Amino acid sequence: MFDWKAIGMGFVVTLVLAIIGLFVPFLGLLAPIIGGIVVGYMIGGGKYVDAIVDGGLSAGIAGFIFTLITVLLLGAAISTAAITAGYTGSTGALTAVAAIIGAIVAFIIFLILGLIGGIVGVAIKGQPKEAMAEPATEPEPIAEPETARMSPDIAFNVENVQKCLCPTCPVQAESDCAKEKLIKLQEMMQSEEEMNPTPEDVPGVYCSTGNATCTDIDPSKECQCPKCPMWEEYDLENGEPAGVFCRDGKAM
Ligand code: SF4
Ligand code: SF4
Repeated sequence: MFDWKAIGMGFVVTLVLAIIGLFVPFLGLLAPIIGGIVVGYMIGGGKYVDAIVDGGLSAGIAGFIFTLITVLLLGAAISTAAITAGYTGSTGALTAVAAIIGAIVAFIIFLILGLIGGIVGVAIKGQPKEAMAEPATEPEPIAEPETARMSPDIAFNVENVQKCLCPTCPVQAESDCAKEKLIKLQEMMQSEEEMNPTPEDVPGVYCSTGNATCTDIDPSKECQCPKCPMWEEYDLENGEPAGVFCRDGKAM
C-alpha cells in the first residue's frame, strides 16, 4: 500500500514547486497535482488505489508543512514590523493558531489535488508490459516424419530360413552347436515330411528370433546380414540393432 520511495519523491516535488509557486502564479496550485503525478507514475502497473493513497498523502503532508512554515515566517515578519512600529502587544498566539488552521486546510486541499495527480500518473504509466503481452500459445506438437521406420516384424518361416545367410557366416563357422543344428536342418529339408522347423532347430534367422541359442559362436567375425536379401527387404540397415542379431537380439 505505502510506497515510501514514491511518497518521498512526491513530497519533495510538491514542496519545491509550492515554494517556487510563491513567485510564479498558479504553480502553487499545480504543485500537489504534479507531485501526485510523480507518485502515480512511480507506482504504475494499474495500481490506482495505491496511487490515490500515496499521492494524496505525499501532497497533503507537503502542503501541511509548507503552509505551517510559511504562515509562521509571515507571522514573525508581521510581528517584527509591528514591534518596529511601536506595537507592544503579542501576536505569537494568533500566528500559531493561523498557522495550524492554514496547515490543516492546506493539507486537505493538497491531499485532494495529490490524489487526482496520482490517478493521472498511473494512467500515464499505463498497464504493465506482461498484461499487454500476447497470450502465450501452445507450441505446435512436432509431427512424426512420414518416413519414420516401422518395426520389421520378420516372420520365422521356411521361406526366410532358406534365404538366411547365417549358416554360412564365419561367426558360426567354428560353432559345433551351430554345425549340429545345420546338419539336422539339412536332413529335415531332404526328408519327405513337411518341413516345420522351430527357432531352436535353425542356426539363423536371428533377425526374427533374436539371440542365438548356441553359445560357442564368435561375433567378432564379419556378419553376413548386409549380403542377405532380407537386409534390403526389411530395411535392416536402419534398424536396431543393425546386424549381428545372433549376439544383439532381433531387429526392431
Ligand atoms: S546374424 Fe549376422 S553375424 Fe549372426 S550369424 Fe547371422 S549373419 Fe552371422
Ligand atoms: S538378415 Fe541376417 S539373420 Fe536375418 S535372415 Fe538374413 S542373414 Fe539371417
